Amino acid sequence: MPGKIELLLGPMRSNKTAELLRRAEMRREYARQYVLVLKPSDDTKGGPGVVESRNPKGHAKMEALEFNARDPWEVLPAIDDLESRIGKCIECIAIDEGQFVDDLFLFTRHLLDAGHDVLVAGLDLDFRGIPFGEMLNLHWLVNAYGGSVTECMAYCACGNRAFYSQRLIEGKPAPYDSPIKMPGESYEPRCAEHFILPGRPH
Ligand SMILES: [Zn+2]
Repeated sequence: MPGKIELLLGPMRSNKTAELLRRAEMRREYARQYVLVLKPSDDTKGGPGVVESRNPKGHAKMEALEFNARDPWEVLPAIDDLESRIGKCIECIAIDEGQFVDDLFLFTRHLLDAGHDVLVAGLDLDFRGIPFGEMLNLHWLVNAYGGSVTECMAYCACGNRAFYSQRLIEGKPAPYDSPIKMPGESYEPRCAEHFILPGRPH
């Protein structure tokens, strides 16, 4: 039987990782499921092999299997090996920072078809306000396979709900055409009124 998908979407600082790990931990503790956390190698938040929430109050930390975000299919033999070692099907696979994963739609569908429940957390939009990777495409899988979508909430400093991840470079709003990775960059959740994107074409 195919698995179900739980999709966690939101901007920076919406506690997506903490929520992913909370759900993973609940499945481990109460449902006695085997949960495998997958961490794309582009993610730089924690040390190797560990998915860590940025929220300093949640001390959630969990062992995870790192995989190549450019080719998630490479991780399938490791999943098979793990299943033979534990002698059962892995009930749940949790993917953090899903926006970085190539082939995310097909890879997630493959895991669902193989009978795993799949939790996927990630950014819905990039710093330009454009859909990030294939995260939004996963809505279709929620409809087709069943499960849920959770829009994780973040707040702008003005108090309104933040839908955008404001990218700052040395404290100033990053221009539309700024490179993907830069030293001195940081992010803040912002509402539509306070989201600033110099040089935006539309
Ligand atoms: Zn605001």
